[in-house]
Amino acid sequence: MAEARSVLVTGASRGIGAAIALDLARRGYDVGLNDIARQKDALEGVASEIAGMGRRAALHFADVSDKAAVDGMARGFLETFGKVDAIVNNAGILIAGEMDGLPEQVWDSVMDVNAKGAFMVIQAFLPAMKARGYGRIVNIASIGGKHGAPEQAHYSASKAAIMGFSRVLAQEVGPLGITVNSVCPGIILTDMGRVNLEDPAVRKAWQDKTAMARIGAPEDVAGPVAFFCSDDSAFVTGQTLNVDGGIVFS
Ligand code: NAP
Repeated sequence: MAEARSVLVTGASRGIGAAIALDLARRGYDVGLNDIARQKDALEGVASEIAGMGRRAALHFADVSDKAAVDGMARGFLETFGKVDAIVNNAGILIAGEMDGLPEQVWDSVMDVNAKGAFMVIQAFLPAMKARGYGRIVNIASIGGKHGAPEQAHYSASKAAIMGFSRVLAQEVGPLGITVNSVCPGIILTDMGRVNLEDPAVRKAWQDKTAMARIGAPEDVAGPVAFFCSDDSAFVTGQTLNVDGGIVFS
């Protein structure tokens, strides 16, 4: 039997992260599940679903904006699974607020989790990927990092940062057998997505903006992520894929 592939998914207790973790387990991956400690019950729920599929799941509690915690998580993951095939940087936060008057601390929190968090998780896992000459890095950005919406300047900046450093990292690690790609979800019905969808008129407007005339589900994001985690995308790197039902066409 072929050796199982292993993947770390951050922010995996619910929403898009949970959908990605479950989908990858269904495809035969052993999964390291990360979230912050307050999501213990939810993360255990995802782990038991994965165990029910006959795959291994390990819990890795860490705030991705805390370097010591992230480094410890990487050590724990590698001890558990022996290697890392893929990482999916999905953990993210959205705190709405107009740029004028936005507290510096809110700017910093959003950048720290969304952009610096992905950077630190990548740094923690890169030595193991380089040593093996293999790796798949998938970063969850957002169409908000391309267009953005009012009250999301800092969120937009954090997601644009992810796309920017992913293109550079792809060039740095490409010769070592490691690919780096970004996925840009559109409007997806999750706890975070609801920020954009509370008002039915706003929800209808977003729905009407999509070519497919619907809001996305977390599971809609999982297939494209699985593609970038797999060897079907072996010659694809530094790319950004919109998964938005047709809102952004560039
Ligand atoms: P979600 O429902 O809010 O889930 C995000 C998960 O990440 C939560 O469990 C959250 O835990 C966790 N998390 C937050 N900060 C963390 C940290 N510092 N360390 C580890 N885990 C942390 O969000 P989602 O909608 O599934 O979004 C997932 C990703 O897709 C995010 O990067 C988001 O920006 C991106 N995205 C979402 C949409 C959308 O419409 N939903 C669109 C474009 C892009 P807590 O709740 O306890 O903080």
